Amino acid sequence: MERIAVFPGSFDPFTVGHVSIVTRAKSLFDKIIIAIGQNSGKSSLLTVENRIRLISDVFANDKIITVASYKGLTVDFCKEVNARYLLRGLRTAADFEYERAISQVNKLMLTEIESVFLLTLPEHTPINSTIVRDILVHKGNASKFLPKGIDINNYL
Ligand code: ADP
Repeated sequence: MERIAVFPGSFDPFTVGHVSIVTRAKSLFDKIIIAIGQNSGKSSLLTVENRIRLISDVFANDKIITVASYKGLTVDFCKEVNARYLLRGLRTAADFEYERAISQVNKLMLTEIESVFLLTLPEHTPINSTIVRDILVHKGNASKFLPKGIDINNYL
């Protein structure tokens, strides 16, 4: 059976930390679907369409990586695309506590799902989308936190 993983997140914006998690996970799965969860309660900087475009541009040469968006529960999206693995990144103990609860509840809702966690590279630990978003809102230069070769102005 094909090993399909969903990497869910807001990705507003996608950062070097996200790139690293996906790139390192490539050897573990046959297919990785980067899935943008549409959360109506969260205000966003990039539209979902632009987030899809940005991530697709980053992985344009990677056949096993696709990008999608979904509404509703992540486990329902996993069922829809036949994914048995959820990929997540862990930076800190706070991430762990948050991810532990989500993962255990997901497993209670869908027993066949397994969450796979990759620890962030040390240099990516402080990078999170909220901080990068703040830099961009205040017209700062966030290029060192964004995927290589991406000019964020093309996606705002
Ligand atoms: P969410 O809103 O679901 O937290 P994010 O886009 O912030 O979505 O993150 C998606 C996933 O990527 C999460 O598992 C998060 O822990 C992971 N992640 C975010 N930033 C980094 C980073 N700098 N290094 C490694 N993993 C990260």
